[in-house]
Amino acid sequence: MRVLLIEDEVALARVIRRGLEGANFSVDHCENGKEGLETALAGSYDLLILDLMLPGMDGWQICEELRSRRKPLPILMLTARGAVEDRVRGLELGADDYLPKPFEFPELLARVRALLRRDKVNKTRVIRIADMEIDTAQRKVSRMGIDIPLSDREYTLLEALAQNEGRILTREVIQERVWQDFESYSNTVDVYVSMLRKKVDVDFPAKLIHTIRSVGYTLRRPEEPH
Ligand code: CA
Repeated sequence: MRVLLIEDEVALARVIRRGLEGANFSVDHCENGKEGLETALAGSYDLLILDLMLPGMDGWQICEELRSRRKPLPILMLTARGAVEDRVRGLELGADDYLPKPFEFPELLARVRALLRRDKVNKTRVIRIADMEIDTAQRKVSRMGIDIPLSDREYTLLEALAQNEGRILTREVIQERVWQDFESYSNTVDVYVSMLRKKVDVDFPAKLIHTIRSVGYTLRRPEEPH
Protein backbone atom coordinates (compact mmCIF):
# COMPACT_ATOMS: atom_id res chain seq x y z
CA MET A 1 0.00 0.00 0.00
CA ARG A 2 1.38 3.37 -1.02
CA VAL A 3 0.63 6.49 0.97
CA LEU A 4 1.40 10.06 0.02
CA LEU A 5 1.87 12.42 2.95
CA ILE A 6 1.69 16.17 2.34
CA GLU A 7 2.71 17.84 5.60
CA ASP A 8 5.08 20.74 6.22
CA GLU A 9 5.74 20.06 9.91
CA VAL A 10 8.89 18.03 9.56
CA ALA A 11 8.82 16.47 13.03
CA LEU A 12 5.21 15.35 12.69
CA ALA A 13 5.82 14.07 9.18
CA ARG A 14 8.71 11.99 10.48
CA VAL A 15 6.54 10.39 13.18
CA ILE A 16 3.78 9.57 10.68
CA ARG A 17 6.22 8.22 8.13
CA ARG A 18 8.04 5.99 10.60
CA GLY A 19 4.80 4.67 12.03
CA LEU A 20 3.31 3.86 8.66
CA GLU A 21 6.49 2.27 7.41
CA GLY A 22 6.51 0.18 10.57
CA ALA A 23 3.01 -0.99 9.58
CA ASN A 24 4.30 -1.99 6.13
CA PHE A 25 3.12 1.01 4.15
CA SER A 26 5.38 2.66 1.67
CA VAL A 27 5.34 6.42 2.21
CA ASP A 28 6.27 9.37 -0.01
CA HIS A 29 6.44 12.73 1.66
CA CYS A 30 6.09 16.29 0.32
CA GLU A 31 6.43 19.44 2.39
CA ASN A 32 5.14 21.82 -0.25
CA GLY A 33 1.51 21.93 -1.39
CA LYS A 34 2.14 22.46 -5.10
CA GLU A 35 4.73 19.75 -5.25
CA GLY A 36 2.36 17.52 -3.27
CA LEU A 37 -0.46 17.99 -5.77
CA GLU A 38 1.83 17.21 -8.69
CA THR A 39 3.09 14.10 -6.93
CA ALA A 40 -0.46 12.98 -6.15
CA LEU A 41 -1.52 13.45 -9.77
CA ALA A 42 1.52 11.74 -11.21
CA GLY A 43 1.76 8.76 -8.88
CA SER A 44 -0.49 5.87 -8.13
CA TYR A 45 -1.20 6.09 -4.42
CA ASP A 46 -3.75 4.20 -2.35
CA LEU A 47 -4.27 7.03 0.10
CA LEU A 48 -3.41 10.68 0.68
CA ILE A 49 -2.77 12.18 4.12
CA LEU A 50 -3.20 15.90 3.67
CA ASP A 51 -2.36 18.77 5.98
CA LEU A 52 -4.37 21.98 5.54
CA MET A 53 -1.91 24.82 6.07
CA LEU A 54 0.91 24.29 3.64
CA PRO A 55 3.36 26.46 1.72
CA GLY A 56 2.70 26.71 -2.02
CA MET A 57 -0.92 25.60 -2.01
CA ASP A 58 -3.26 24.77 0.87
CA GLY A 59 -4.93 21.44 1.56
CA TRP A 60 -8.36 22.64 0.45
CA GLN A 61 -7.08 23.66 -2.97
CA ILE A 62 -5.28 20.35 -3.34
CA CYS A 63 -8.41 18.45 -2.40
CA GLU A 64 -10.56 20.46 -4.77
CA GLU A 65 -8.08 20.07 -7.60
CA LEU A 66 -7.83 16.30 -7.16
CA ARG A 67 -11.60 15.90 -7.06
CA SER A 68 -12.18 18.16 -10.07
CA ARG A 69 -9.83 15.90 -11.98
CA ARG A 70 -11.77 12.90 -10.74
CA LYS A 71 -8.76 11.43 -9.04
CA PRO A 72 -10.32 8.59 -7.01
CA LEU A 73 -7.87 8.79 -4.14
CA PRO A 74 -9.09 8.46 -0.54
CA ILE A 75 -8.08 11.60 1.38
CA LEU A 76 -7.52 11.86 5.13
CA MET A 77 -7.27 15.50 6.16
CA LEU A 78 -5.33 16.70 9.16
CA THR A 79 -7.14 19.67 10.68
CA ALA A 80 -6.67 21.96 13.64
CA ARG A 81 -8.46 20.83 16.77
CA GLY A 82 -11.96 22.17 17.20
CA ALA A 83 -12.11 23.88 13.85
CA VAL A 84 -15.49 22.50 12.85
CA GLU A 85 -15.75 24.75 9.80
CA ASP A 86 -12.42 23.40 8.54
CA ARG A 87 -13.71 19.86 8.74
CA VAL A 88 -17.00 20.66 7.08
CA ARG A 89 -15.22 22.50 4.30
CA GLY A 90 -12.80 19.62 3.86
CA LEU A 91 -15.55 17.05 3.65
CA GLU A 92 -17.51 19.24 1.24
CA LEU A 93 -14.48 19.50 -1.00
CA GLY A 94 -14.23 15.74 -1.17
CA ALA A 95 -12.04 14.63 1.73
CA ASP A 96 -13.09 11.20 3.01
CA ASP A 97 -12.18 11.66 6.65
CA TYR A 98 -10.39 14.10 8.93
CA LEU A 99 -8.25 13.82 11.98
CA PRO A 100 -7.88 16.77 14.38
CA LYS A 101 -4.37 17.65 15.52
CA PRO A 102 -2.81 16.74 17.87
CA PHE A 103 -3.47 13.03 17.56
CA GLU A 104 -1.89 9.80 18.66
CA PHE A 105 -0.37 7.70 15.92
CA PRO A 106 -2.55 4.60 16.56
CA GLU A 107 -5.63 6.69 15.80
CA LEU A 108 -4.14 7.83 12.51
CA LEU A 109 -3.29 4.24 11.63
CA ALA A 110 -6.80 3.05 12.49
CA ARG A 111 -8.33 5.71 10.26
CA VAL A 112 -5.95 4.95 7.42
CA ARG A 113 -6.91 1.29 7.61
CA ALA A 114 -10.63 2.06 7.80
CA LEU A 115 -10.42 4.31 4.74
CA LEU A 116 -8.55 1.69 2.76
CA ARG A 117 -11.11 -0.96 3.70
CA ARG A 118 -13.96 1.30 2.67
CA ASP A 119 -12.20 2.11 -0.59
CA LYS A 120 -11.73 -1.57 -1.34
CA VAL A 121 -15.44 -2.19 -0.82
CA ASN A 122 -16.28 0.71 -3.14
CA LYS A 123 -13.85 -0.48 -5.75
CA THR A 124 -15.29 -3.94 -5.90
CA ARG A 125 -18.85 -2.79 -6.04
CA VAL A 126 -21.02 -4.18 -8.80
CA ILE A 127 -24.43 -2.64 -9.50
CA ARG A 128 -27.06 -5.06 -10.84
CA ILE A 129 -30.30 -3.75 -12.29
CA ALA A 130 -32.46 -6.30 -14.10
CA ASP A 131 -30.11 -7.97 -16.62
CA MET A 132 -27.60 -5.11 -16.48
CA GLU A 133 -24.35 -5.38 -14.59
CA ILE A 134 -22.12 -2.39 -13.92
CA ASP A 135 -18.67 -3.08 -12.56
CA THR A 136 -17.81 0.25 -10.96
CA ALA A 137 -14.20 -0.73 -10.29
CA GLN A 138 -13.43 -1.47 -13.90
CA ARG A 139 -16.09 0.86 -15.32
CA LYS A 140 -17.48 -1.96 -17.42
CA VAL A 141 -21.07 -2.62 -18.40
CA SER A 142 -22.82 -5.73 -19.65
CA ARG A 143 -26.39 -6.82 -20.30
CA MET A 144 -27.49 -10.43 -20.46
CA GLY A 145 -23.81 -11.27 -20.22
CA ILE A 146 -22.90 -9.24 -23.32
CA ASP A 147 -20.20 -6.61 -22.82
CA ILE A 148 -21.18 -3.13 -23.92
CA PRO A 149 -18.27 -0.79 -24.60
CA LEU A 150 -19.00 2.80 -23.58
CA SER A 151 -17.05 6.04 -23.77
CA ASP A 152 -15.88 7.55 -20.52
CA ARG A 153 -18.72 10.12 -20.46
CA GLU A 154 -21.36 7.58 -21.39
CA TYR A 155 -20.19 5.35 -18.59
CA THR A 156 -20.20 8.19 -16.05
CA LEU A 157 -23.71 9.13 -17.14
CA LEU A 158 -24.94 5.54 -16.84
CA GLU A 159 -23.37 5.10 -13.43
CA ALA A 160 -24.98 8.35 -12.20
CA LEU A 161 -28.38 7.09 -13.32
CA ALA A 162 -27.82 3.60 -11.94
CA GLN A 163 -26.69 4.84 -8.55
CA ASN A 164 -29.97 6.69 -8.33
CA GLU A 165 -32.08 3.81 -9.55
CA GLY A 166 -35.78 4.70 -9.55
CA ARG A 167 -35.11 8.37 -8.83
CA ILE A 168 -35.52 11.08 -11.43
CA LEU A 169 -32.41 13.06 -12.23
CA THR A 170 -33.00 16.45 -13.79
CA ARG A 171 -30.90 17.57 -16.74
CA GLU A 172 -29.23 20.12 -14.48
CA VAL A 173 -28.24 17.50 -11.91
CA ILE A 174 -26.91 15.21 -14.63
CA GLN A 175 -24.95 18.06 -16.13
CA GLU A 176 -23.40 18.82 -12.74
CA ARG A 177 -22.53 15.23 -11.96
CA VAL A 178 -21.24 14.17 -15.32
CA TRP A 179 -19.76 17.38 -16.71
CA GLN A 180 -19.14 19.34 -13.48
CA ASP A 181 -20.92 22.15 -15.21
CA PHE A 182 -23.12 24.23 -12.95
CA GLU A 183 -23.77 27.10 -15.32
CA SER A 184 -24.47 26.64 -18.95
CA TYR A 185 -27.44 24.84 -20.34
CA SER A 186 -27.15 22.92 -23.54
CA ASN A 187 -28.69 19.83 -25.07
CA THR A 188 -25.53 17.80 -24.35
CA VAL A 189 -27.37 15.72 -21.75
CA ASP A 190 -30.12 14.74 -24.20
CA VAL A 191 -27.56 13.91 -26.88
CA TYR A 192 -25.61 11.68 -24.52
CA VAL A 193 -28.68 9.95 -23.14
CA SER A 194 -29.74 9.18 -26.67
CA MET A 195 -26.29 7.73 -27.51
CA LEU A 196 -26.33 5.73 -24.30
CA ARG A 197 -29.77 4.32 -25.08
CA LYS A 198 -28.63 3.12 -28.47
CA LYS A 199 -25.88 1.17 -26.79
CA VAL A 200 -27.53 -0.16 -23.66
CA ASP A 201 -31.27 -0.27 -24.31
CA VAL A 202 -32.23 -0.52 -27.97
CA ASP A 203 -31.08 -4.08 -28.57
CA PHE A 204 -32.50 -5.48 -25.33
CA PRO A 205 -36.08 -6.42 -24.53
CA ALA A 206 -36.24 -4.64 -21.16
CA LYS A 207 -35.89 -0.86 -21.43
CA LEU A 208 -34.19 0.66 -18.41
CA ILE A 209 -33.68 4.34 -19.25
CA HIS A 210 -36.85 6.43 -19.25
CA THR A 211 -37.49 10.03 -20.19
CA ILE A 212 -39.52 12.05 -17.73
CA ARG A 213 -40.87 14.68 -20.02
CA SER A 214 -39.63 18.23 -19.42
CA VAL A 215 -37.87 17.09 -16.22
CA GLY A 216 -35.07 14.65 -16.88
CA TYR A 217 -34.30 10.97 -16.88
CA THR A 218 -34.54 7.94 -14.69
CA LEU A 219 -33.16 4.45 -14.79
CA ARG A 220 -35.44 1.80 -13.35
CA ARG A 221 -35.98 -1.92 -13.58
CA PRO A 222 -39.02 -3.11 -15.54
CA GLU A 223 -42.17 -3.67 -13.48
CA GLU A 224 -42.95 -7.23 -12.54
CA PRO A 225 -45.88 -8.57 -14.57
CA HIS A 226 -49.07 -8.72 -12.46
CA1 CA B 1 0.94 22.81 8.23
